[in-house]
Amino acid sequence: MSRIEHGEVEGLRVGRFPGKLNTACILYRVGDTIIDTGPPNMWPAVRRFLEERQVTQAVVTHHHEDHSGNLAPIRRATGAEIYSPEESLTRLAKGFPLRLYQRVLWGRPDRVKPRVVPARIPVAGGLSLTTVAAPGHSHDMTCYLEAERGWLFSGDLYVSSKTVYLRQDEDLPRHLASLRAVLQLDFNTVFCAHRGVLRDGHKALERKLDFLESFRQRVADLAQQGRSPREITRQLLGREDLMSWITGFHYSKRNLVQACLAASGVNEKG
Ligand SMILES: [Zn+2]
Repeated sequence: MSRIEHGEVEGLRVGRFPGKLNTACILYRVGDTIIDTGPPNMWPAVRRFLEERQVTQAVVTHHHEDHSGNLAPIRRATGAEIYSPEESLTRLAKGFPLRLYQRVLWGRPDRVKPRVVPARIPVAGGLSLTTVAAPGHSHDMTCYLEAERGWLFSGDLYVSSKTVYLRQDEDLPRHLASLRAVLQLDFNTVFCAHRGVLRDGHKALERKLDFLESFRQRVADLAQQGRSPREITRQLLGREDLMSWITGFHYSKRNLVQACLAASGVNEKG
């Protein structure tokens, strides 16, 4: 567990293995508003954080269990209004399949029916969050912009400027389009749900977009030379490692290469 403070924003990093970037998740608080809620198995730590001050509303960036996992207990414990993107509602209400590693790392969220997050949510101190759709990492990925302060709560849009692993169900072309669209907005500080506070966040997102675009080009070039996806993966990213094995290849290097091939219209088999 570790704390984050930046201006009026407080954060709590929670996870069973908090040192590991992708297994810990950060929930942020601005006044009485919570942005993302942490994984279900971290509820005791989240509850202690919430007890520090009144909570009147919680919003999530997308349905993944490490972000939405405590929506139901937050509503039960605090009576806060809970919100999600419209595209998240079905999965949050009906549940969604979790792999073994997800159940072990994060636990299974209770089903919940949040309200659809409005285009603009007032938060404490005259600030407000503007909803910015940014699909790709997931179909419902949504960022929240605080224009006065130049803040972007980016959920899983960023995570890292050099992507190594891709989740099997990520849509790379949509993710790239979302990065381009978000980069049109005016902000400096990015509050990433895994990386933490990025003071030069706009530049960090630019670096990520540049990296992914040039990586995709390198993959396409190697495919043109007749290299197989396996060979391309080995050459550009090295062998699959613990992350791929633990997640049963739900996250893997190969997924990133195959998504690049699909996006470039190159045959992805082989
Ligand atoms: Zn996610």
